[in-house]
Amino acid sequence: AFTYQHKQIADYFPALQQKVYGQPLIYFDNAATTQKPQSVIDAIARYYSTINSNVHRGVHYLSQLATEASEETRRRVARFINARHTHEIIFTRGTTESINLVANSYSKAFLKPGDNVVISAMEHHSNIVPWQIACEDHGATLRVIPMNERGELLLDELDHLLDEHTRMLAITWISNSLGTVNPVREIIEKAHQLNIPVLIDAAQAAPHIPIDVQAIDCDFLAFSGHKMYGPTGIGVLYGKEQWLDRMPPYQGGGEMIKSVRFEKTEYNDLPFKFEAGTPHIEGTVCLQAALDFLESLPLADAYAYEQQLLEYATRQVSQVPGLRIIGQAAEKASILSFIIADTHPYDVGVLLDKMGIAVRTGHHCTQPVMDFFGIPGTVRVTLAVYNTPAEIDRLTTCLDKALSMLK
Ligand code: PMP
Repeated sequence: AFTYQHKQIADYFPALQQKVYGQPLIYFDNAATTQKPQSVIDAIARYYSTINSNVHRGVHYLSQLATEASEETRRRVARFINARHTHEIIFTRGTTESINLVANSYSKAFLKPGDNVVISAMEHHSNIVPWQIACEDHGATLRVIPMNERGELLLDELDHLLDEHTRMLAITWISNSLGTVNPVREIIEKAHQLNIPVLIDAAQAAPHIPIDVQAIDCDFLAFSGHKMYGPTGIGVLYGKEQWLDRMPPYQGGGEMIKSVRFEKTEYNDLPFKFEAGTPHIEGTVCLQAALDFLESLPLADAYAYEQQLLEYATRQVSQVPGLRIIGQAAEKASILSFIIADTHPYDVGVLLDKMGIAVRTGHHCTQPVMDFFGIPGTVRVTLAVYNTPAEIDRLTTCLDKALSMLK
């Protein structure tokens, strides 16, 4: 039985009221991006209809309001993840840019020839490639924590992988292709015993599990607004003051300076040192509406509901003949990847689409994970708080139908 008092949450989402190919839309591609509630859509229109102006520069009324609204979001985000200081919150384009910022700037200050950076076998490309580039630039090597067939990291390997030359451990909290929830607190504790800082990719965690950066004690944490019911193009980098203070700017331009002379430029204080140019003001301001939505659910109930829904979905799709779930970790959240014998994930995805069900197929920007399992890709069903058990039932029926069409 579902304990959550489902408040017809889908009603708040206009995009979910559509039909596609004459079928009611069932949206199961939430790990790629979530739909937006009316309150977020309204906030965007309201922003442009009222306080639209550039931030930090103007003395005029609108600019003051836009600046204040942006900085209010910063305070809200700091509270959302329990950061110690508001200036430890830096706005970026998204998780990808947050990780690139650290890989670029931190590595300039701290990565030397002979050093190494440790990541894991289940990272999204955006937590692999920036570190490959950094290692190449600075003569360092990349090391990878392996995983088992269930999609769980082999954490005992950390004892060999981490050493006095490790300058960074960068790891995802929740795998976007397997659903594995990694025990980040334990991992961070291990790294800190060797004074190694840890970056957490929280792109899939932020919408689905509570985040307390002080409790897990991560050094950096990255996530995207668009995966948590907010606008695209706005993301967050949390970094501990002690690191951010010692890192050089990522980009140069307006806003990130105190004074500019041709001989020498003095950089601005945190967080502005890392926010060159006109930011995504509308996205920043409207991220607040997304946090309002999440916190109104309330959060704890939403997380519990999604967990129940994942368990239900796992049970239901397991009954489809020939279906194999990829990613069977003991701790999972919101993501269900599978393949079906004698079918290609793409063909299954196309048929589901024609029945009104949006799933993602392919490697999900985790090619090494697909190589590990020796598969071309998976069909990936990813859940959000507006999905329902009835939609799961329809998925199961449609999978059976798709199979009979393919065979
Ligand atoms: N990391 C993970 C685990 C993700 O799922 C994603 C998005 N698929 C990213 C990073 C990149 O996020 P974005 O595209 O919003 O920068």
